[in-house]
Amino acid sequence: MLDLSKARDRMVDVHLARRGVRDRNVLDAMREVPREKFVEPGFEEFAYEDGALPIGQSQTISQPYIVALMIEAAEVKPGDRVLEVGAGSGYAAAVMSRIAKSVHAIERHAALAEAARQRFDRLGYANIDLRVGDGTKGWSEAAPFDAILVAAAGPSTPQALKDQLDVGGRLVIPVGEEPRNQRLLKITRTGGTTFEEEDLGAVMFVPLVGEQGWAEKRQPLRHQSSARPYCRS
Ligand code: SAH
Repeated sequence: MLDLSKARDRMVDVHLARRGVRDRNVLDAMREVPREKFVEPGFEEFAYEDGALPIGQSQTISQPYIVALMIEAAEVKPGDRVLEVGAGSGYAAAVMSRIAKSVHAIERHAALAEAARQRFDRLGYANIDLRVGDGTKGWSEAAPFDAILVAAAGPSTPQALKDQLDVGGRLVIPVGEEPRNQRLLKITRTGGTTFEEEDLGAVMFVPLVGEQGWAEKRQPLRHQSSARPYCRS
């Protein structure tokens, strides 16, 4: 039998704390959430290596270090209302739900969303509201948010997400005009119309597909144009 709780502690010590993740809330939440429950059956033994793993629909669960880095950068704190775009397996939303007051999460693939919902139910994580849709438009009925995390990269920052930040709120999002050349940005809303931007470094995420992201892969007339290369993970 694999001792997964030991493996989880080791992951937090070796891959997160030693690499500079300091936020106690993030480290504690990642010690608590069983990542093995968020990977495809058969991949449980790899759940605590610091890598991305397949979750179906050609998507991946993000690497633990990146999840920790993003949540730390977004300064998610107790009492916060958080939005995640690109819920995927639900892992990052689950981690944030252990810190924040509530998490709203959006996933475009219905099958992934359904699996994530079942995981939240089984684990009793009741403060996560997940819906299927295009997260580039945000979730206006639930806005404003203290923190927004985007787990997929688009060509630019969707305006809707900036608009749905509370003043003082933080948006952490990978952006890249070139699909293979992405930067992780932290955007803080400093006032009604003012934002501050910080570049957190180079990253590689799956494409953000939607109205304010990349166009859908198989659009009818697409092959006739000099379409931008489509990014895959
Ligand atoms: N946070 C996830 C990582 C999933 S990978 C986890 O912890 O497992 C990114 C996810 O973004 C994929 O599941 C993909 O389907 C989704 N995605 C891409 N574009 C999207 C959009 N416009 N709206 C919602 N989800 C989107």
